[in-house]
Amino acid sequence: MSSSRTGVVVVTGGSRGIGAATARLAARHGYAVCVAFRSDAEAARAVVGEVEALGPAAVAVRADVGLEQDVERLFDTAENALGPVTALVNNAGVLERQCRVDEITADRLQRVLSTNVVGAFLCARQAVLRMSTRYGGRGGAIVNVSSAASRLGSPHEYVDYAASKGAVDTLTLGLSKEVAAEGIRVNCVRPGIIATGIHAAGGEPGRVDRIGPLQPMGRGGTAEEVAEAIVWLLSDAASYSTGAFIDVSGGR
Ligand code: NAP
Repeated sequence: MSSSRTGVVVVTGGSRGIGAATARLAARHGYAVCVAFRSDAEAARAVVGEVEALGPAAVAVRADVGLEQDVERLFDTAENALGPVTALVNNAGVLERQCRVDEITADRLQRVLSTNVVGAFLCARQAVLRMSTRYGGRGGAIVNVSSAASRLGSPHEYVDYAASKGAVDTLTLGLSKEVAAEGIRVNCVRPGIIATGIHAAGGEPGRVDRIGPLQPMGRGGTAEEVAEAIVWLLSDAASYSTGAFIDVSGGR
């Protein structure tokens, strides 16, 4: 399964949930993995250990994706430790307590947009600067992790989060066309209801149990099922796909 063409992948939010599953699956496919995280160093170190146990090299880097200097240091550290970056999974994402739009404050908007939108752009920027043939790079792949929320709107839960994922979808469309002739493919995965810790941040840790059975497939999904789509889009098997969206949402 591993191949010499897989290279080095930076996975933001690689310490937990979908990012951690992606880091593990990418390692099984032979990628060296940079596990980027914001606060949970112990979880990030555990993922690094799992990647190394599978064979490839790995490094954990603390970086807030919403901060320009952190993101530059993240990519520098990844390259120094693992070699030239060939892939980015723009996965770090947050949501806050379920509420209505008329309850959303400017502070909350800034926190959500900083990670989900500013972070995705800053990481994509560093990836393009390093991978684009325009700047002497050898090309690569970016996968943005959006959400089914971008097409559903998340009323009464978190319209701010849904709107941030709309921005991630549009980043995918625009950037994919901007760098298509520079050796970089940019694609997007939109998960549905996936069993991770993110729902606790919304104030409903049991959300997957409540809403999963209501989905067309009658269940929520797993982080591993989302990782399969992400790693496929990163791979050469997806060599003619760019600006594409894969919904991993059980028919939602
Ligand atoms: P999760 O379990 O809550 O993990 C979130 C990850 O993002 C953690 O590794 C966290 O790092 C990291 N992170 C958060 N803010 C960050 C920041 N500012 N800078 C760097 N890292 C940051 O979430 P998840 O469910 O796996 O979600 C991953 C992605 O999938 C997100 O973009 C989310 O919106 C999307 N998604 C999830 C679902 C779902 O149902 N789970 C559905 C649709 C889309 P720490 O560990 O250090 O806190």
